[in-house]
Amino acid sequence: MKIPDIIIAIDGYSSTGKSSLAKKIARKFDFLYLDSGALYRGVTLFAQEEGLISRLNTVNPALKEALGGLELHFGAEGKLYMGPRCIEQQIRSLEVSGQVSPIAAVPYVREWVDEMLHAFGRAGRIVMDGRDIGTAVFPEAQLKIFMTASEQVRAQRRYDEMVAKGETPLLEEVVKNLRERDYIDSHRETAPLRRAEDAFELDNSDMTFEEELAWVQGLIQGKFGIL
Ligand code: C5P
Repeated sequence: MKIPDIIIAIDGYSSTGKSSLAKKIARKFDFLYLDSGALYRGVTLFAQEEGLISRLNTVNPALKEALGGLELHFGAEGKLYMGPRCIEQQIRSLEVSGQVSPIAAVPYVREWVDEMLHAFGRAGRIVMDGRDIGTAVFPEAQLKIFMTASEQVRAQRRYDEMVAKGETPLLEEVVKNLRERDYIDSHRETAPLRRAEDAFELDNSDMTFEEELAWVQGLIQGKFGIL
């Protein structure tokens, strides 16, 4: 099946499996996959290392200027780099997860990230996942999917992922983090998390990954009339 050169936007709540689905679609249809959340996480790690965010999540306005000296890029296997340093593991920590939403609510941070996302989008044939891809970054995306799942299913998935990486999180901490992020992401003023009117909703609480894929494939066939 050959999909035309389009942008596919996958948005939704935290830990709904957006990136797993996006990566699979990218491999299957030979699209570039881009994880917009990784960039917000990279900015958060930077702010933490520069001492520009407090324990109470107050962002120092000096971050705006400091961003001029930040260089983030995706290297081999889509891992995120800050200059020469691979920061993929660090950006997935609970420390970064705990401060990323307040950072992502800052308008100039969103502008900084959006500029990078738009540069990738010019290439076409891209699957991008995040919170505002179908509503704000690429409202013109030809296919939009909005993912949800029950909180319990999402927390368990996130917890299992962390344990598989050798971490020892507390399930309550993971639940707390998901709740806080979803709340801040949905209630911020700039580009809040919400379903675009023309997005197809996918609730995968009770679906296997194979069922999800079959659902997306059906959607693509229906929308683009291809087999
Ligand atoms: O996708 P991921 O969970 O890694 O994203 C981390 C955080 O980055 C989200 O909780 C959200 O605060 C922010 N984000 C965003 N807009 C995007 C992608 C991520 O605000 N497009």
